[in-house]
Amino acid sequence: MTIRAAPQRHAQFVPAHDIWQRLGDWLRDHQGSIRTVQWIVVLFYVVLLIVPVFLPLPDHTAYLWTNFTRFAQFVFWGVWWPLVLLSTALVGRMWCGILCPEGAITEFVSGRGRGRATPRWMTWPGWPTIAFACTTLYGQMTSIYQYPRPTLLILGGSTLAAAVIGYLYGRNKRVWCRYLCPVSGVFGLLAKLAPLHFRVDPPLWQQSQLSGIKPGAVNCAPLVPFRTMRGATDCHMCGRCSDFRGAIRLARRSPNHEIVHVAGSVAKPWETMLIVFGLMGLAVGAFQWSVSPWFVAAKLWLAERLVESGVTWPLEATAPWWLLTNYPQRSDVMTLLDGVLLVAYMLTIALACGALTVSMLAFATRSLGSWQPARFHHLAQALIPLAGAGVFLGLFSLTISQLHSDGIELPFVIPLRATMLVLATFWSGMLCWQVTGLYSWQPGRRVLAVFFVGLAMIVTDAGWLLLFWIW
Ligand code: SF4
Repeated sequence: MTIRAAPQRHAQFVPAHDIWQRLGDWLRDHQGSIRTVQWIVVLFYVVLLIVPVFLPLPDHTAYLWTNFTRFAQFVFWGVWWPLVLLSTALVGRMWCGILCPEGAITEFVSGRGRGRATPRWMTWPGWPTIAFACTTLYGQMTSIYQYPRPTLLILGGSTLAAAVIGYLYGRNKRVWCRYLCPVSGVFGLLAKLAPLHFRVDPPLWQQSQLSGIKPGAVNCAPLVPFRTMRGATDCHMCGRCSDFRGAIRLARRSPNHEIVHVAGSVAKPWETMLIVFGLMGLAVGAFQWSVSPWFVAAKLWLAERLVESGVTWPLEATAPWWLLTNYPQRSDVMTLLDGVLLVAYMLTIALACGALTVSMLAFATRSLGSWQPARFHHLAQALIPLAGAGVFLGLFSLTISQLHSDGIELPFVIPLRATMLVLATFWSGMLCWQVTGLYSWQPGRRVLAVFFVGLAMIVTDAGWLLLFWIW
């Protein structure tokens, strides 16, 4: 049984006017209401996911306000995803802790399941990055943004997996969210930028222990060891531990704090992989390929070579919709050649952009002194604002294109994109400068390191520049 922490007030720690502290306590005290909201979201999610599969595909006269499938597409890809990314950078992972239907389902099932211990292989830190890469590739192969069946397959499959993991492992826990969710890695990175977090005060914790207070247990569903918690990466901001031992509270912080002062304490190579090869590589390729003239040129060149060689079956062979896009009624069918080239394009962009970025980060690391892997990974963390802004703008372009197809034009899109990319680049540069200050006091070395990281950022900016302004 889960017992909520007994509220303990510490006047010197909690100024009466601290609105954030009060908000944290409010979350803790309203878990029942939060659960009700979660089930409403679950219901909404299930309807949006399943109903469109049984409806005919919308034709070109369908609008999002006249056709349920178009509406569901717009909600999932035009509103939900961009807003979840934005909210995570603004208020941490409150989406995960308060609204996410998958989190709610896995925790609910976990309370009624086998309650086994989490197996060791599941705690491998590479899973979120691998899962992100696989779902990104598979989503593009099956045109997840356009059709309801792949949406059901991928999102519904993920929800089903979350329920199964919940049934097997943990008791009232979110083992799935903590170790396997394909977007938990991305959310964890963006949460580092949030100006809100649950702050732990070690002296107050110790003081509470010395005073002999024995508070009730708190169920931290995503298994965060909150006594030693120093950042917002894994915290789902559910509020259950608010005021625990009088030492935890929701508090403001500088959006730079975690990256500069916390992220370097433990090297996280898989986070570097996700930033550099995932968000600044694979994601760029995923948004680019459908408008890329390079993709078209490669396809033409390869098709000509195949025809010359008398091998035409890759130009004609198709696959079921769950492997490659196959909607003849919409004249939208991928051949085997399309599929292979699509995967090759995304992987090439990921590897090329990632390799260039890694090289620049390595030069930056070396500029600061002797080679130290921890320093390299810490510098990579400085790229999170730019990596996150790019993915947000990529998803936001789906919002724009869906509204555009319904005759709605959003104003200020071009200046908004430019402003966001410039600000994110500047922010990453500023973080990099602050991080270099931890490793060298010599301005020359620091400037050189920032210069190399700046070159890495130019690579990513160029990818978005091509997509948004040139192609
Ligand atoms: S540390 Fe755990 S219990 Fe506390 S707010 Fe975060 S997710 Fe909730």
